[in-house]
Amino acid sequence: MTTLQVELGARRYPIHIDRGLLDRPGLIAGCAPGRHVLIVTDANVAPLYLAKLEAALAGKLVRSVILPPGEQEKTLARFAELMDALATLGASRDATVVALGGGVIGDLAGFAAACWMRGVRLVQVPTTLLAMVDSSVGGKTAVDLPAGKNLVGAFHQPAAVIADTDTLRTLPERELRAGLAEVVKYGALGDADFFAWLETHSKDLLARDADTLAAAIERCCTHKAAIVARDETETGERALLNFGHTFGHAIEAEQGFGGLLHGEAVAAGMVLAARLSQALGLAAATDTERLAALLQGLGLPVAVPAGLAPEALLARMRLDKKNRSGRLRLILWRGIGRAEIVEDVAEDAVLAV
Ligand code: ADP
Ligand code: ZN
Repeated sequence: MTTLQVELGARRYPIHIDRGLLDRPGLIAGCAPGRHVLIVTDANVAPLYLAKLEAALAGKLVRSVILPPGEQEKTLARFAELMDALATLGASRDATVVALGGGVIGDLAGFAAACWMRGVRLVQVPTTLLAMVDSSVGGKTAVDLPAGKNLVGAFHQPAAVIADTDTLRTLPERELRAGLAEVVKYGALGDADFFAWLETHSKDLLARDADTLAAAIERCCTHKAAIVARDETETGERALLNFGHTFGHAIEAEQGFGGLLHGEAVAAGMVLAARLSQALGLAAATDTERLAALLQGLGLPVAVPAGLAPEALLARMRLDKKNRSGRLRLILWRGIGRAEIVEDVAEDAVLAV
């Protein structure tokens, strides 16, 4: 088992990464020392993995909430349901909330843990690649509003992250590829060696070779842990993790539910950010080409989906949380492994790409 530590001043928490972690009841029970446990999961994940988790927590007062799968469930109404479930359970301040699932479950259960009695223990048990490399680490929790994604939330760091890589065997192909977009992001934004490693290992990743996947997850979590340690609440450097995301979120928002998955939109968004960097004279065309080739080889989109108007995407980008005083603030790059925050990006240049 590989264990990485996220260090946050005097606090720290472990990220455990290995095969078969859900078959280690001692590890799981050790992460939930109190009497009450609320497990939150969804209807796809529950039949596969919930029994193992419940067995590991035998002897405690456990309640499991199984939600329908999908981003459309990340609502205040579901959040209220979780509050009621904790109340019914009689959960006290030493309760633990366990998030078993992908990023949707992690964000929602995480926000519940942040709010119940002003904050109780949260254990993230990510079962998607995207959640393992990104959303389960770092303490961002939220629900969506009709007005936009993640508008209500809190920073609430988990007490532990348990990434059992065996769970990736049942992940739908499209979800695996979408997760790989976020993996590529780490190479693109700050680790050229890792990017080159991904270029030579993309076939093994798609074939779900266990060792290759574990190596990639470890590398991504190492980066994420370091960035979060230096900038927990995103006052600076943490924004680099949004490489490809301003374009990506605009695509997601314009398409609404049923369009590209988050990771797919980020893949297209990274290529747009690279092309914009190139147009602004920051980076070379060869870097854009390498990025697009890697993503394409992983079966990911590298352009704006047909039918989306550039002006509409730009209007969405103007609403991004990173902007300051009405000026576009984007994560661009100077080439592979060299992302940076660029202030006051000209709107014509964005429209042109
Ligand atoms: P993400 O992690 O990409 O934010 P979700 O939480 O929406 O996404 O999970 C993506 C989809 O994959 C959901 O339909 C979820 O139920 C399903 N899922 C999650 N983990 C697994 C798994 N290990 N095996 C099969 N399906 C899974
Ligand atoms: Zn993302």
